[in-house]
Amino acid sequence: MGAKTGIKAGSGERPARVPSRLKKGDTVLVIAGREKGKTGKVLRMIPEKNRATVERLNIVKRHRRGSGPQQVGGIVEKESPIDVSNLMLVCHRCNKPTRVGAKRLDDGARARTCRRCGEIIDR
Ligand SMILES: [Zn+2]
Repeated sequence: MGAKTGIKAGSGERPARVPSRLKKGDTVLVIAGREKGKTGKVLRMIPEKNRATVERLNIVKRHRRGSGPQQVGGIVEKESPIDVSNLMLVCHRCNKPTRVGAKRLDDGARARTCRRCGEIIDR
């Protein structure tokens, strides 16, 4: 996982966590920020930060110095997490960015639905 950077201790805790509308593997559209208008697949959710890494989006280039046998110098490209408020789920049926609804299935499980076409997003 690597070194943790930029974590503030103590202050700035959010009282209530919004349940995540997104999951790993979802296709999402970026609606704000540097990658606005692009779509990609969620690689990883970071719920405690309300962020997600999206495949090939928000790439940061890290210049790495070669030091030691396993550290090859050069530029490493890595997806940087995007705030989930800047992401919108793309429905696999109507192929449009949509708000996510919730529905209780017959077996009691909760599923996410597309607010546009009503399709159940979770299988
Ligand atoms: Zn839909």
